[in-house]
Amino acid sequence: MTTVGILGGGQLARMLVLAGAPLGLRFLVLDPAADACAGQCAPLLVGGYDDEAALAEFANHIDVATFDFENVPADSARRLAGRVPVFPGPEALAMAQDRLVEKSLFRELGIPVPAFADVDSRDALDAAVAEVGLPCILKTRRLGYDGKGQFRIRDAGDLDRAWEALGGQAQRVGLIAEAFVPFDQEYSVVAVRGRDGEFRAWPLTANWHVDGVLSASLAPADVPAALTAQAQAHARALAERLDYVGVFALELFCRDGELLANEMAPRVHNSGHWTIEGAETSQFENHLRAVLGLPLGATTARGHACMLNWIGAMPDAGPVLAEAGGHWHDYGKQARDGRKVGHATVRTDRATDLAEVLARVGAALGREAQVQPVVETLRG
Ligand code: ATP
Ligand code: MG
Ligand code: MG
Repeated sequence: MTTVGILGGGQLARMLVLAGAPLGLRFLVLDPAADACAGQCAPLLVGGYDDEAALAEFANHIDVATFDFENVPADSARRLAGRVPVFPGPEALAMAQDRLVEKSLFRELGIPVPAFADVDSRDALDAAVAEVGLPCILKTRRLGYDGKGQFRIRDAGDLDRAWEALGGQAQRVGLIAEAFVPFDQEYSVVAVRGRDGEFRAWPLTANWHVDGVLSASLAPADVPAALTAQAQAHARALAERLDYVGVFALELFCRDGELLANEMAPRVHNSGHWTIEGAETSQFENHLRAVLGLPLGATTARGHACMLNWIGAMPDAGPVLAEAGGHWHDYGKQARDGRKVGHATVRTDRATDLAEVLARVGAALGREAQVQPVVETLRG
């Protein structure tokens, strides 16, 4: 019996556990919060990620460790790796935790990125903005997620406000200024690399964010094959450079047919949730196969899928469950403003049918605005 340890007990861990049951896997989840939602589906060890005793106890009960939470201190991951195999490796995790290091690596690999500059003081902010241009975004280098720790700078009048909002964090987590990209569409490549180096990517996913938080994903994105090939080649170069093992996502902006990399997530990703019902093998199952050294499953799509995120509170499940291809995921979390509490995936064999179903579901739930960009894209 193999036990997989997961650092972090949120919905990603929960969905890994659900995917691992048919494979005969056991799990142990480490999380500082006693009410972590993965704890409803698997044994939970309550403890801090930098708590030596908790890490030792965790390591004692598992055969291999992986992550639900990308901001586990890299040092903790390194210490754990001295006791059990850890995938992805601590160095890949550390790289993805720092936007400056990450963007520098993208550039080194020939993956185009928006202009960026390090900011460590108010004067450096002026210099950075002169370099990357306006408008731009000031972001914390570390610990940001769901668009938190970001300030949009439209003109020079915003500079003081931006520094007021984030300057206090310059020493603790670092700051980076990035050119604002007026993209036509956001995409992500969700991909997996096995212990033996085998690489597979799911079809390109089109994404829509609201206030920096993922709102909807559509896959496969209806784009020229060359664009998908380019995105997947970027993901592959990155995975090979990092000797990455497991699933990861590369977030991309597309403008006038050109791709620019935004960031990578060293874990299963929200924009890959559609693969549970919409692909031959889900991102969760393939992540487990990868970290266990098992053969990877096919990443081909089954028809067309759209994932809708539920933020703050769960809507009524009825309208989604009433659809032939409607699937419901309630993470069992307390409702709270801005919190990801669940998602729905709607799947159909034909893209035109997906537009119809989404429009119906959106109207029934009063979520017309959320489905609208996806419906428009599907209807071309
Ligand atoms: P997460 O890890 O949850 O995806 P995050 O907090 O790491 O989010 P980003 O991915 O950097 O933040 O930004 C969130 C969203 O904000 C992006 O998906 C995009 O919609 C918008 N955004 C971020 N950077 C830029 C940029 N340089 N130009 C235009 N839009 C941007
Ligand atoms: Mg991020
Ligand atoms: Mg992001």
